[in-house]
Amino acid sequence: MSHSDFVYRGDQSRALAERDAHTLSPSYTRSYGFAISHGRGAEVWDLDGNRYIDFAAGIAVLSTGFSHPRIVKAIQNQAERYIHIGATDFFCPEPVKLAEKLQQIIPIHRAAPADKRIYFANSGTESIEAALKLSRYRENRSHLIAFYGAFHGRTMGALSLTASKSKQRGGYPYIPGGVTHVPYPARSDHDNWADAVGYIEKFVFKKVPPHEVAAIVVEPIQGEGGYLVPHDDFFPRLRQLCDKYGILMIADEIQSGVGRTGHWTALEHWDVSADIVCLAKGLASGVPIGAIVAHNDVMGQWVPGAHASTFGGNPLACAAALETISVIEDEGLMQRATDLGEYAAQRLLKFMGDHPSMTRVDGKGFMLGIDFCDANGKPAPEFRDEIVTKCYENGLLMLAAGTHAIRFAPPLVLTKEQLDEGLTIFEYCIAQTEEAMWEPAS
Ligand code: PLP
Repeated sequence: MSHSDFVYRGDQSRALAERDAHTLSPSYTRSYGFAISHGRGAEVWDLDGNRYIDFAAGIAVLSTGFSHPRIVKAIQNQAERYIHIGATDFFCPEPVKLAEKLQQIIPIHRAAPADKRIYFANSGTESIEAALKLSRYRENRSHLIAFYGAFHGRTMGALSLTASKSKQRGGYPYIPGGVTHVPYPARSDHDNWADAVGYIEKFVFKKVPPHEVAAIVVEPIQGEGGYLVPHDDFFPRLRQLCDKYGILMIADEIQSGVGRTGHWTALEHWDVSADIVCLAKGLASGVPIGAIVAHNDVMGQWVPGAHASTFGGNPLACAAALETISVIEDEGLMQRATDLGEYAAQRLLKFMGDHPSMTRVDGKGFMLGIDFCDANGKPAPEFRDEIVTKCYENGLLMLAAGTHAIRFAPPLVLTKEQLDEGLTIFEYCIAQTEEAMWEPAS
C-alpha cells in the first residue's frame, strides 16, 4: 500500500503524507495514515486533533512514553551545557556515567560489573555492526551463526545476519558472507525445528568447524520476525554449546531489552547471560543511541582506532539514557510491564476464545505477539493488516510483525486504564474485521 491508498482521519494528516511522498525516501515502510502532532505518556494526538492509545511505542522505543517530563528536563539541562564534544577523542562525563550504570544492570556471562566494558553507537544496526566486528576480531574465528526470521538491522554487516523478509536483502548483491542461518526454535512453530542447538551441532558443524565460529547472534524473543518466544531449553543449551566451543553468544536485545519484558534483558527469563549484549531502541526514550556491553576479556582486545564513531557516546543521548534508566527504576516500570503484560495476555487469550481468526498470543511483559490466520489455519497477512488499519481508524496505534502477527509493545508507562481502553478497541476491530472479511473454511 502507498500513501495514496491509505485512509486518513483528517486533511492535515493527508496533506503531510502527500508532502512526505514528494520528499522522503520511498524505502520507508508506512503502515497507515497517522501523522503525529504531539504525545504524552502512552497517548498521542495526530495533526487533525484525534487522540490515540499507543500500543506501538514508536517501534518499541518510547520506554518512558512520549516526552516524559524528567527526560525532557534531562535533555534540556544537558543541551544548555554542551550537546557534543566527540566522546571518542575527548573525555566526557556522560558516557562514563552511563557505562558505569550499564555495568551494574546488564548481565554478561562470567563478568562482575567491573569486568564489563561498553561501546556506544547511535542505532540498533550500529550496535550489531560493533558486536559483529568485535566478535570477528579474534584470530581464525570469522564465521557467524544467526537465525531465520531474525532482524538485526540494515547496514551491510547487520544485513548479513538479517533473514526476516527477502525484500530487506533483495537487490543488494554484495552482502558480506560468512554467516550460516539456522531455524529459530519458536515454541509456537509446529515444524520439526524445535532443536536448533542439535541442528547446529549436526548440520552446521559439518560445514564450518566450531573453532572457526566467532559468534552465534540471537534475539531472545524474535521481534520483527513476529514476536516469537523460543522453547524453554533453548538458551541454556545454546549457552552450553557456546561454552563448549569457545563461541561468543551475542544477544540482540535491541527490541527486547531495557525493561520491556520485565527485566533489563529478556535473556534473564532463562537465567542465561550472553557474552555481548546489544542495546538501542528503548535505552534513551527515543533519543538515538546504541550500545554494546561485553566482558573486558573480549572488548579489551580492540586497540585504539579499531572501532569508533563521531557521535557514539553523544552527551545528549547519554543524559537521556541515564534518566530513562532512573525513571524505569523510580517508577517501577519493569514490574508494571510484568504485571500489566500478564493481565494483557490473559485478556487477549480470552479474546482468542471468542475470535477464530486469532491463533496465538505469546510473549513476555510488554512484548506480546498475536497471530491471525484464515479459517483454514493459514497465515492471513491482509486480514492482519486490515485490523491494524481499523485500530488506527478507532484511535489505537498498533504495528504488524512477521508474516501475520500484530505486536503489543506499548510504552512501559502505559496505565491500566489506557491498557483496558486500548484492548477494548482492539477487540472491537478484530470483531469488525471478522465480520467484514472472514471467510468460512474451504
Ligand atoms: N535488532 C533488532 C532486534 C531490531 O528490532 C532492530 C530494529 O527493529 C534492529 C536490530 C535495528 O535497529 P535500528 O533500526 O535502530 O538500526
